Amino acid sequence: MNKVVGLLLLNCILWSSAGAQLVGIKAGHLIDPESGRISDNQIILVEGERILAVVEDASGYAVDDWIDLSEAWVSPGLMDCHVHLTLNISYQQRDILQIYAAESDAYRVLRGVQYAREFLEGGFTTVKEIGNDGNYVTADLIRAIDQGWVNGPNIIYAGKIIAPYGGQLPGVAHQSGHAWHREYIDADTHEEIKKAIRQNVYYGANTIKMAADIFPYVYAEEDIAFAVREAATYGLRVSVHVVGGAAADNVIRGGAASIEHGFFLNQEQLQLMKEKGTFLVGTDFSYENWLSYGLGLEKTQELFATTTNRLKQAYQTGVRMAFGSDVVYNIPGKNRLQSSLEVLHTWKAAGIPAMYVLKTMTSEAAALMGIEKERGRIAAGWFADIVAFRKDPTLDILDISSVQFVMKNGRVVRKDP
Ligand SMILES: [Zn+2]
Repeated sequence: MNKVVGLLLLNCILWSSAGAQLVGIKAGHLIDPESGRISDNQIILVEGERILAVVEDASGYAVDDWIDLSEAWVSPGLMDCHVHLTLNISYQQRDILQIYAAESDAYRVLRGVQYAREFLEGGFTTVKEIGNDGNYVTADLIRAIDQGWVNGPNIIYAGKIIAPYGGQLPGVAHQSGHAWHREYIDADTHEEIKKAIRQNVYYGANTIKMAADIFPYVYAEEDIAFAVREAATYGLRVSVHVVGGAAADNVIRGGAASIEHGFFLNQEQLQLMKEKGTFLVGTDFSYENWLSYGLGLEKTQELFATTTNRLKQAYQTGVRMAFGSDVVYNIPGKNRLQSSLEVLHTWKAAGIPAMYVLKTMTSEAAALMGIEKERGRIAAGWFADIVAFRKDPTLDILDISSVQFVMKNGRVVRKDP
């Protein structure tokens, strides 16, 4: 054996013995939201970042460390497909220009550090940051998380929101310039859409967010289709903010991966979404979310009823759904995670089964984000994103707040006594 091969071999032995740390998790009730099944007394074997196997008897394995969750309900890590980690703005104080003037990018990313930690420690191992993060500050947050400086979930990241002229900011006086460029890219032609997507990719985006219907000039079907094709060149998917009407037809027919919000989608549109496989990320604010956001009582009642009915209709129609909270304002006395979980009251009011809600937060969310082959399930080969609850969340989805254990990429980030 020559010296080089010998060294390589020694390296391999050291590597495999270092990588062989095997962790066994005793899961009392293992939930598989994708199939809707719960299996009792399972053992999840975790090696490094990934799941090695799920077994009933681990006697054939040399387990180095045990984690006892034999009393708990164990599920794949949760996912939220619509978050704004660096934003805190209410409807009443919605003068985003003031925020642009008063909040530096550094301040925004520090807020993101806090909210990211809240989500992760609350069981959300993956989130989709869907835009409105200043000048790409989430790219820095992701770097900091990757380097282990701060704790946060895996982040699928949209960069700046691509929209027809004006972003989502009506009413900016001409002399104030293009203030919205802080968070939006104007893209009215196909060339501009192409350039906007490339700009986002350059600054670290791995998904694309568009806003279709803010102004009377909305994206046409061929605009969406063009964006979807261009994004696909880089392996990215396109999510589109649209509430309903003709613009929603264009978004669905244009082949977007998801409709964000879709509050006023009608039955024909929901049917078309089902046929095309378009996901609905409903961002269904609860009564309390709307009220604290600053909407009046009457408008709150109206919108809550509308979104509850739409959610129920989408479920009954069989539209694929992925959970997204979209909370941009903390309810007084509650942190960002708690405020986001308020959205679940709407799912309950719509009568959606808790197991299905869990599916929209795991395997379906992963499918929308294109990571379904590596996250969103507890199975051999998948990333070890694992969360455990004291109470059974398949009976009452609000009990996901009883989280007691969180593992992300095979690393324990929370373990309550
Ligand atoms: Zn949003």
